[in-house]
Amino acid sequence: MKKITIAVDGFSSTGKSTIAKQLAKKLHYVYVDSGAMYRAVTLYSLKNNIISESYFYIEKLIEDLDKIHLNFKFNANLGFAEIYLNGKNVELEIRSLQVSNYVSKIAEISEVRKKLVEQQQEMGIKNGVVMDGRDIGTVVFPKAELKLFMTASSSNRARRRFDELIKKGDKVTYDDILQNIEMRDLIDTSRDDSPLVKAVDAIEIDNSDLSIDEQFELVYKLALEKI
Ligand code: C5P
Repeated sequence: MKKITIAVDGFSSTGKSTIAKQLAKKLHYVYVDSGAMYRAVTLYSLKNNIISESYFYIEKLIEDLDKIHLNFKFNANLGFAEIYLNGKNVELEIRSLQVSNYVSKIAEISEVRKKLVEQQQEMGIKNGVVMDGRDIGTVVFPKAELKLFMTASSSNRARRRFDELIKKGDKVTYDDILQNIEMRDLIDTSRDDSPLVKAVDAIEIDNSDLSIDEQFELVYKLALEKI
């Protein structure tokens, strides 16, 4: 069977990674979470006093980019690849609300984007990849055979994310999450470099009222049509 490239873009917490992981598993493709890469650079920046509430040393971040090594390793128990920052598994650490609160500022920096996009394009060279993010169908793989653009109401998205974090034991409020999602939507859609926009040839899927199974059925059919 021909292998294609599948780009899954959309707003924060629209379930992009759920659908992308399901598709990759079913098709025996590689799943890449590009947001994890921006999150890992953010974690590095927080740990190395590059960004905080009161400062953002952009020059230092750009200088340090050569010291930031990211790679993914497949975890057979989980069924997907986890991200490593300079050799350390940071898959859990990058999901905190603190990282979420700074990641869109880090993702605005063109030098950061350039480095991560190059790495993402290398991972997609052999096709058979499902990658989720914000600029996958527009910048990373403009020739992807299937492009999906996921949307859902912000209250729906905040509720889902809140439930996820509470299950993990994080101490967060629904309002904190909603605020974070709306702030990231705003920065992601209005930045100069690779803003979040729907690619002209992307298929928009509003999953506010779709169950995970319904959504998968719909998207899997679209993928088979392209393959
Ligand atoms: O997908 P996730 O919500 O984990 O992404 C975290 C943040 O990383 C996004 O809000 C966005 O600022 C940034 N991002 C990006 N481009 C991508 C993936 C993520 O700018 N391809």
